[in-house]
Amino acid sequence: MCGIVGAVARRDVPGILVEGLLRLEYRGYDSAGLAVIGTNDQKLHRRRAFGKVHKLIESLAREPVHGTVGIAHTRWATHGAPTERNAHPHCSSDELMLVHNGIIENHTELRKQLQHDGYVFDSETDTEVIAHLVARERKTAPNLLEAVRAATALLEGAFAVGVIARDEPDRIVAARLGSPLVIGIGIGENFIASDVLALRPVTDRFIVLEEGDVVEVTVDQVRLW
Ligand code: GLU
Repeated sequence: MCGIVGAVARRDVPGILVEGLLRLEYRGYDSAGLAVIGTNDQKLHRRRAFGKVHKLIESLAREPVHGTVGIAHTRWATHGAPTERNAHPHCSSDELMLVHNGIIENHTELRKQLQHDGYVFDSETDTEVIAHLVARERKTAPNLLEAVRAATALLEGAFAVGVIARDEPDRIVAARLGSPLVIGIGIGENFIASDVLALRPVTDRFIVLEEGDVVEVTVDQVRLW
C-alpha cells in the first residue's frame, strides 16, 4: 500500500509534498519520488530515490526543484523490482507525469498495444502503461481530464492516479477505483492524497473520492465527475 500526495498552490510545493510522503511512511514502501512543473521553465522535473523518503530529500538537497504544481509517491513494488528506475512518477516523453497506487491486471496486453503504437517503455511497472495510455488519449481528447477519463476506462484492476501535464500547467487530474484518494481543500490551494494524514499541516477540509470518481484540481477549483 503506497502513498500519493499532490499539490496545486501559489507557493513552492516540494516541501509540502515531501512532508506528506513522510506522513505516509507508516503505510510501507520501498522507494519514493516526486515531479513538479518548473516555475522558471514550465518543464517537468522529476527526482526519485530507491529506499527511504530521506534519500529523496538528499537528492532534492543536491538538485532542488521548484514548482507550484506537483505530485509525489511512495511505492510498494508489485510489478518490477524496487529500483529507482521503477519508482514513480512515470512519464510519457516529456509531456506528462503520473503516480499510481494499485495494480493494473491487464497491463501486459495494454503494454503490447502501446509498444505496437510506438511507445517506448522505460520501466518494468504496470503503472507506466497508464502514463502512455493517457498520452495516447491526449492526441484526440480535448484536455487532460478527458484523456484521463478515456485512459482509465481501459484499465482492469485497482488504481488511484494523479497526473500533471506540461501544457496544462495549472492542474492535477486524479482518478480512483479500488484504491483510496482524498482531496484536501485549502485557501487558494488544493491537494490530493491517499490519506488525510498526509495533508494535516495544510488543511482540515477534505472530500473523500468515491469509486469511479475523476477530479480536476486547480488553485481555486475542484471539479468532480
Ligand atoms: N503497481 C505499481 C508498481 O508496482 C504501484 C504499486 C504501489 O501501489 O505502490 O509500481
